[in-house]
Formats: sequence, structure tokens, C-alpha cells
Amino acid sequence: MSKMAAAEMCLEGVAPRYSVKGLWNTFLEGLSQVHCRLMHKAVSRPINGKYRCWSCLREFESGW
Ligand SMILES: [Zn+2]
Repeated sequence: MSKMAAAEMCLEGVAPRYSVKGLWNTFLEGLSQVHCRLMHKAVSRPINGKYRCWSCLREFESGW
């Protein structure tokens, strides 16, 4: 954890426009979506072009 905090401070110093937390959240979101697709079978019908997973209550863009 302290290692990550140090990296975050370093990166923010070099490129303040980029948020490491934002990138990390994006990464986690992608990971959880992959996990959901593989592990969760309880998806709703597409509503407004999006699916909803009843297991983790996430919304996904259709197209998979
Ligand atoms: Zn899910």
C-alpha cells in the first residue's frame, strides 16, 4: 500500500493531469466486467442498449 502511495505521488508530480486512482478504477472496472461476464449468468435483457447483471448490479454496454 505504501508502495502504491509513493508511486501515486511520483506520477502526480510528473503528470498531474492523470489520476492514478482514476486509471486504477478504470482497470478495476474492466476487470470486474470481465469477471462478471465469465462468472455471472444472471444478466437482464438489454435496456437502452445496456445489460444489467443481477449478481453484481452492474450495467454494461451491449455489444458482447
Ligand atoms: Zn455481474
